[in-house]
Amino acid sequence: MGPAMVCNIQCRKTEYLIISKKKQIPHYPPLILNNVNIKRVTCHKHLGLILNDKLSWTDHIADICKKCHNKLNTILRMRHILPRLCIEKLYKTFVRSLLDYADVIYDNCTSADSANIEHVQRRACIISTGAIRVTKHVTLLKEVGLELLKTRRQVHRLTYLYKIKNHLVPDYLCNFHPLFHHNTENYNLRRHANLIPIRSRTVAYYNSFLLATIRDWNSLSAELITATSLASFKRLLKKNLNLCSKKIYSRGHGYEKKIHTRLRLGLSALNDHLYKYNLTLNRFCDFCPGNCIENTEHYLIHCARYTNYRITLLLGIKNLLCPDINIAMLRDLCPNYLSKILIEGSDDLSDDTNLELFECVFRFIKSSNRFSR
Ligand SMILES: [Zn+2]
Repeated sequence: MGPAMVCNIQCRKTEYLIISKKKQIPHYPPLILNNVNIKRVTCHKHLGLILNDKLSWTDHIADICKKCHNKLNTILRMRHILPRLCIEKLYKTFVRSLLDYADVIYDNCTSADSANIEHVQRRACIISTGAIRVTKHVTLLKEVGLELLKTRRQVHRLTYLYKIKNHLVPDYLCNFHPLFHHNTENYNLRRHANLIPIRSRTVAYYNSFLLATIRDWNSLSAELITATSLASFKRLLKKNLNLCSKKIYSRGHGYEKKIHTRLRLGLSALNDHLYKYNLTLNRFCDFCPGNCIENTEHYLIHCARYTNYRITLLLGIKNLLCPDINIAMLRDLCPNYLSKILIEGSDDLSDDTNLELFECVFRFIKSSNRFSR
């Protein structure tokens, strides 16, 4: 071995890590190299992943969540001047990308760690929509058109397995397990595409990338398993997720838009919304007689307190929906349907018309002054 091949260890910069799942770790003598005590650590960062002495992802996830929350703090400070669409893009570009890094590997994290990751995305959704903090998580994600991050990691794992099966990754990944080369001559068509599950004796191995992804793969539909290209595989996976947020929800800006979004999410300052979340005991309108439940429809269509402002609202939307009928007919036609259109828009109208419709509702919200700041 020539002098150039000698490995020169910098003892003062060197650290060591003992990995063990034992509850009581035996005492190990100090490690000394060239008369220097090597420092023992409990975790070490390698290729951007923090490995700890228990081989759990708690340290890594705490680290990335902290970075994400710091970035969200910056976005939070600018939320009043940034449109919602811009906040959503900032989240996807600067925050979610941190969570995506090596997510196929850390997906076998504990449910507590997984909940911490979901909390990052939840916070981003609340910042962008202006929703009240306790709004249901599923409703929030649907509003913004995002999937659970757990589902996102599963999609990434399946995509990676597709790449491994179809030799779209380096050879050392394609050849590391014989299950991809098994003889399937005697199998029927459905089983032909299935992969042989690997047996495991430990929970950690059972939940690891390859075993978990093979189980997920074998539960996919035949159409997905036999996808002929990576693009079509990804497209079909995305279709299965059924993400259907309307793009118009992200357009627009301002306080009234925030209230409009809260009405759509089912949690605003209206008494019925607060009642459903156990935030008040009274679900009735304070103004109207006869115990009228103050829900979105009551506020927009029926409440006697806002009759004058409603005339302006109905005149505005009449021209957009059906110019030929008068506003009394429009209101009595189907109050429930009308209220739904005012909040969610209509698929029969163009995006621009829906936005004009929303603008009329924004003006109604502002003039009614029901939601004081
Ligand atoms: Zn009322």
